[in-house]
Amino acid sequence: MKTDEKLSIRIIRKIVFISIILICILTIGVKASKSDVNYVTIVFPEGYETTVMTSSVKVSDILAENHTIILPDEKVYPDVDSNIDLSKTITISKLTEETVVVSEQVESITTEEILGKYVTVTEKIIVEQVEIPYETITKDVSKEGTETKDKVLQNGVNGLKEIKYKVKYQDEVEIERTVVSETVIKEPVDKIIQISTKITSRSASRTTASAETIQASVEGMTPKVVNMNTSAYCSCARCTGKTNGITSSGAQAKEWYTVAAGKGYPIGTVIYIPALANKPNGGWFVVEDRGGAISNNRIDIYMGSHSSAITFGRRNLECYVYE
Ligand SMILES: [Zn+2]
Repeated sequence: MKTDEKLSIRIIRKIVFISIILICILTIGVKASKSDVNYVTIVFPEGYETTVMTSSVKVSDILAENHTIILPDEKVYPDVDSNIDLSKTITISKLTEETVVVSEQVESITTEEILGKYVTVTEKIIVEQVEIPYETITKDVSKEGTETKDKVLQNGVNGLKEIKYKVKYQDEVEIERTVVSETVIKEPVDKIIQISTKITSRSASRTTASAETIQASVEGMTPKVVNMNTSAYCSCARCTGKTNGITSSGAQAKEWYTVAAGKGYPIGTVIYIPALANKPNGGWFVVEDRGGAISNNRIDIYMGSHSSAITFGRRNLECYVYE
């Protein structure tokens, strides 16, 4: 019995041993099949790739294990819901590879621009102040009867304006100038002259009857005020080259009446010279003669003698021209 007992113990031991071995083998086998480790390569759209060790086979799981998030504009091959294939590669790429069309602007280059590259063209804004000349206006007060003297009621004052120019220089030489703006800084003030075409009582006593006739002929007319270079002449040979005193108009020249003027003033034009208002004619003259060298801003006053013509000399006088 003792040997039977010994045998059975031995058998039990063997069975336990074998069982343990079997359990061990099974455990290892199961473990080995479960941990089927794969090396998977993930390719990113930026161009780099990484190899990861994983026991997962589903693409989404492998990506999740590696904290790889797929962006909305990216696609994955193989699909995230499928398993990795034999290549063991997961490729992430951009959904659409957009071709950026770079529109080329073809600029037309003008000759000026080409030249501009070789010569220096500069542009400046220049501001200039320019005087605005005043105007002379006349006011005839003869009809009012009270004021009879000629006088300046208001002195003329030039105005001022600012002109802004855009000036182009080519090698410091001005080549173009355009007005950008014009601003009046100061308006000009008109010169107002009061004219009385009536003879003052003082000069009336000395005034020839013809002066009154002249005045009457221009009554109601508004004269043009002209500054004349005024000189005098007589009928002598030195002054006219002849001695008969017959004027260009055919009339006999009369002292304090006849003036010679340029062609701009027709024969018969009445000229009143305020500066000579104290003369026998009250300053009233009639264009009756022509002179060879008489331009439009010149008159020659006929005098009775050569000496008085010389004495008169040459003066710039304001003349009221009745045309
Ligand atoms: Zn003379």
